[in-house]
Amino acid sequence: MWADAVGQLVALESPSGDPGAIGRCGDLVAELATRWVPGVRVSRDARGGVPDLSLTLEGDPSASVLLLCHLDTVWEVGAFPGGLRREGRRMTGPGVFDMKGGVVVGLAAMAAVAEHGQAPGRVTLLCTGDEEVGSTASRPTIEQAARESSAVLVLEPPAEGALKVGRKGVGTYRLRLHGRAAHAGLEPELGVNAVAELARLVDAVGDLGDPGVGTTVTPTVFRGGGRVNVVPELAELDVDVRFATSAEATRIDRGLRQLKPRHPDATLELGGGPNRPPLETAAAADLFAVAKGIGSWLGMPPIQGVTVGGGSDGNFTAALGVPTLDGLGVVGGSAHAPGEWADLGSLPERGALVAGCLWQLGTTRVSS
Ligand SMILES: [Zn+2]
Repeated sequence: MWADAVGQLVALESPSGDPGAIGRCGDLVAELATRWVPGVRVSRDARGGVPDLSLTLEGDPSASVLLLCHLDTVWEVGAFPGGLRREGRRMTGPGVFDMKGGVVVGLAAMAAVAEHGQAPGRVTLLCTGDEEVGSTASRPTIEQAARESSAVLVLEPPAEGALKVGRKGVGTYRLRLHGRAAHAGLEPELGVNAVAELARLVDAVGDLGDPGVGTTVTPTVFRGGGRVNVVPELAELDVDVRFATSAEATRIDRGLRQLKPRHPDATLELGGGPNRPPLETAAAADLFAVAKGIGSWLGMPPIQGVTVGGGSDGNFTAALGVPTLDGLGVVGGSAHAPGEWADLGSLPERGALVAGCLWQLGTTRVSS
């Protein structure tokens, strides 16, 4: 039945930015929860016009666990090449891996906990609707739920089965260089060439990175100039920044602010900043030990942990000091890419792993 539920959720395509579709997906999750999780309380909200859904099993609030999911996908309706397909235990489709399979892992874990009597600690499964576009609307809801919890388990996909014990933080910046326009043939000396000035700074931007400690600073988009015979007065550079620690985020921010153009009349303006804080490995260490213990008790192969570059909503909860472990969703691959797939055979094992963590965390506190 869990595998069929994944198929139904994937069939209800729900791209970010389509509240109607995300709401219908939420309706189905609520219906499945009501059917399978005895005693569950369902509540709906729509902050900033983006629907979200939370499912709660009451229990000891001082040992409460937040299961974090999102219902939106990166796929516009009908855009997934080949559509939804199932061959044996392999299902291919839009969002099957990231992360509708994870939503069903969460439901299965809640059902297991509910069926075996009173949950030791309170369990909340939160499904948001804008994770793939930066969680602008849902971030306050996520942070509120995290503050009320003593641990957060994020049901995002694992990395080749491994849990995510660290996620880099993300920053995006835009450098805008203002020069002065002039006729390129008659009096170019009166101009200040914004393209040339900004181009000179591109290497300095990239050199701020320090891959040895996991910091990358990547110039990604360069725009400048308008007409071939005019000295350009404006140029812009977009920069993607990834960092493993908050200290590195601060260092990069400071470094970018210290950049100076060479021409005295050129001015440099800096926009943007850090967007997602890092999920530092210390925030996940104790929860990872719990998951490893449960995994070996279940007879699973040894559970691995990795640090990855991409951010998730777990970055927000870890930044609040709430212990956070990510990557507990369904096994599969090709997130955000054609051929995205999930191994439905991993559902019982993943559900049992999360349920085991809920039991353990409902009776013992962990620290971040
Ligand atoms: Zn995701």
